[in-house]
Amino acid sequence: MYIGVPKEIKNHEYRVGLTPSGVRELIAHGHKVLVQTQAGLSIGFADEHYIQAGAAIASRAEEVFEKSEMIIKVKEPQPIECRMLRPGQLLFTYLHLAPDPEQTRLLVESDAIAIAYETVTDERGGLPLLAPMSEVAGRMAIQAGAHALEKAQGGRGVLLGGVPGVAPARVVVIGAGVVGLNAARMAMGLGADVTLLDRSLPRLKEIDMVFGGQIKTLMSNAANIDDMIREADLVVGAVLIPGAAAPKLVTRAMLKHMKTGAVLVDVAIDQGGCFETSRPTTHQEPIYEVDGIVHYCVANMPGGVARTSTMALTNATLPYALEIADKGWKTALLDNAHLRNGLNVCRGAVTYQAVAQDLGYAW
Ligand code: NAD
Repeated sequence: MYIGVPKEIKNHEYRVGLTPSGVRELIAHGHKVLVQTQAGLSIGFADEHYIQAGAAIASRAEEVFEKSEMIIKVKEPQPIECRMLRPGQLLFTYLHLAPDPEQTRLLVESDAIAIAYETVTDERGGLPLLAPMSEVAGRMAIQAGAHALEKAQGGRGVLLGGVPGVAPARVVVIGAGVVGLNAARMAMGLGADVTLLDRSLPRLKEIDMVFGGQIKTLMSNAANIDDMIREADLVVGAVLIPGAAAPKLVTRAMLKHMKTGAVLVDVAIDQGGCFETSRPTTHQEPIYEVDGIVHYCVANMPGGVARTSTMALTNATLPYALEIADKGWKTALLDNAHLRNGLNVCRGAVTYQAVAQDLGYAW
């Protein structure tokens, strides 16, 4: 199959759809890969790396779209990219169609086949192509929080791990899913005193079995959250209720009980945030202060570590890309129900129930 990797054109998007090693795997399976020039340059993947892996380089995006049977990207296609898609062409990328009627309409009009990373499932009920970005965001939450705790950032001036003779910082993570567990492990690794809250008892049991006393677990309810934030130096919000806005677990009134200069990192900001005082911020201006509490609410955290994120993404997407390329999309989707769950738009129809219902397409 002919596979194309255009350079991402969304503002401040430095990730790329395939790493050179991903390209090499596809070539080893007998496929051809065309990469747009400089697609990975800003994260250290130069054209020569792609050429060494066996790819050809195209000077323009138009050439990539024109010559490829499958386009592999990171972000949802921008309008100009949607218009370059051909009838019957495959698009494999993050789409997030439900809040995006314009993109949905353009994909329907393109007559292409669009498989969304975020709705591909696995046998444990997880979302394997969303998980790598949650892993990145969870680990990064501690790095960002540690920085925000520094005095010059408005923080309490506390070192997460403490030093011999000085107690470590207290880190509270609300939500023990992929983001929350990665944040808790990172904080534990730095020597912080970590408490992880979730409303799922089985999940807390699982974590307790693995980490014993190194990560304390606590049932998530209003009373426990209220108690924990009073003592906390850093609070990470990592809850998710699928398909719904994040619940507001820390209200503005509760900030008064927190220590001045404590830090809130709201990873759930892409679902509206789980602290009442959260509002989306950017990597350029990641933090702000409310009532003496420092807030970090960057909505696309993985973009800040675009090289790591690209490698993590290719690790996860490549097996599916190979399956589609080796078998052809129809057979691949018929053989693999989890990959089939990724099909969002197919030849002029919306084929994902939630998107069709939300945006008023026939189902
Ligand atoms: P997940 O489904 O793996 O975990 C969510 C957890 O939240 C579950 O364990 C669930 O039981 C728990 N939960 C739900 N309600 C709760 C409550 N009231 N109290 C405590 N726990 C509760 O989801 P995830 O992959 O860890 O993602 C978490 C959030 O982070 C999502 O909103 C996701 O969109 C977001 N996210 C943001 C970024 C970013 O760049 N800001 C990146 C990746 C993910």
